[in-house]
Amino acid sequence: MSAQETTVTDYSKMTDDEFRQLVRDFIAQNLPPEMAARWKKMYHPYKPDVVFWTQKLNGKGWSVPGWPAEYGGPGWTISQRHIFEEEVFLAGCPALSPQGLTLVGPVICRYGTQAQKDFHLPKIRSGEVLWAQGFSEPNAGSDLAALQCRAVRAKDSDGGDHYVVNGQKIWTSEAHYSEWVFMLVRTSTEGKKQAGISFMLIDLASPGITIRPIISIDGGHELNEVFFDNVGVPAENLVGEENMGWTYAKELLAEERTFSAEVKRHKGQLKRIKQIARETKIRGRPLIEDSHFQRRLAQLEIEVLAHEATLWRVVAEEEAGILGAAPTPSILKVRGTELVQRLGALMIEALEEAGLPYYAEKDYFLSAPDDPPGRPDAYGVSSDFMFRRSLTIYGGSNEVQRNIIAGTLLRR
Ligand SMILES: Cc1cc2nc3c(=O)[nH]c(=O)nc-3n(C[C@H](O)[C@H](O)[C@H](O)COP(=O)(O)OP(=O)(O)OC[C@H]3O[C@@H](n4cnc5c(N)ncnc54)[C@H](O)[C@@H]3O)c2cc1C
Repeated sequence: MSAQETTVTDYSKMTDDEFRQLVRDFIAQNLPPEMAARWKKMYHPYKPDVVFWTQKLNGKGWSVPGWPAEYGGPGWTISQRHIFEEEVFLAGCPALSPQGLTLVGPVICRYGTQAQKDFHLPKIRSGEVLWAQGFSEPNAGSDLAALQCRAVRAKDSDGGDHYVVNGQKIWTSEAHYSEWVFMLVRTSTEGKKQAGISFMLIDLASPGITIRPIISIDGGHELNEVFFDNVGVPAENLVGEENMGWTYAKELLAEERTFSAEVKRHKGQLKRIKQIARETKIRGRPLIEDSHFQRRLAQLEIEVLAHEATLWRVVAEEEAGILGAAPTPSILKVRGTELVQRLGALMIEALEEAGLPYYAEKDYFLSAPDDPPGRPDAYGVSSDFMFRRSLTIYGGSNEVQRNIIAGTLLRR
């Protein structure tokens, strides 16, 4: 169903509780239990589930909460978006692929040509086409403007223009099952390095592209290296103006001010830690009754509540049009990601030796239909813990975020 065909609902008239109930009802009616069970095992996204769920949400007009209404966004408030995110996460809905829906979609809405909008936006909204993000390179991560992947303009045989792209991208999430990639490429070496970068859309089926897996520490495959060897890209795949890509990329990265706070994940982790601690027995008694464990759990729970209160304060400010102190998103990111890692560590501890057998089981659930032997609540915990070490690296590493916080606050 296209965005235009969905029933128009005025969400602005709903209280938060009514909206939350609406989301819960939708999930109860539409999420297959086996899909929720798969996702709760905490492995990497499984494409058929991701596409199914994107289609379901699109049918309701809910797949692109961050897009302007004219391109199919539902017109939710920022708090409604957070409520939605929390409900789908806690119910075990498959995580959507963010690169198209959250990152490049809004950029195309704002800077794309009419032809790019007509071609790409419906396919992104419906999950028909999944996207990867080709920004990082082996020598351009935190210092992204150092990127070298080159795009040179050339003439077609019929007199039109195209680019020839050569170079390498790395850590490209989901590239192995995506259809398109949006890229930052170097189109000029003149002047400041930020000034010679362009934003380009590339079909991953183009001749000259090679995708190699990177198997992460948990044994899973989400990351890739992508190589470009004389890849021809039609000139109409350039977004906006040549050499203006850095400006669009900065907007893209700043788009989701409060969505790396991770509160939904903390709540899921707390719930699971408690479940596990009820099952683990210490000298015949449940771990959850151990006073030392209770103190540590309570400390973390208090920190999550304080973090959540900060998030809602910032959301309220955003909704009132008051953009708080500049480093606020950095503070939410640093605190939120570190709490995920500390909760993950406590979960492993609560499992005791039962967590170990599940370490580094590469794509187990795809090759084996049944759960492995052992304690079922241990499934996925240690592999997820290992993979989530990456939270403090991607999305702007926490060291870089701390520089932003210090730079903004101490300069005052
Ligand atoms: C799971 C995962 C998924 C990713 N997905 C994608 C993706 O889909 N597309 C994409 O383009 N990229 C992706 N990335 C890449 C990610 O954006 C980079 O890893 C990140 O920007 C850090 O760059 P780097 O790995 O080159 O580390 P570097 O920038 O080399 O940093 C190495 C270390 O030095 C520290 N450091 C760097 N500069 C400073 C400084 N100025 N001050 C203090 N400390 C500093 C860093 O914090 C880090 O600890 C992903 C990464 C991970 C881990």
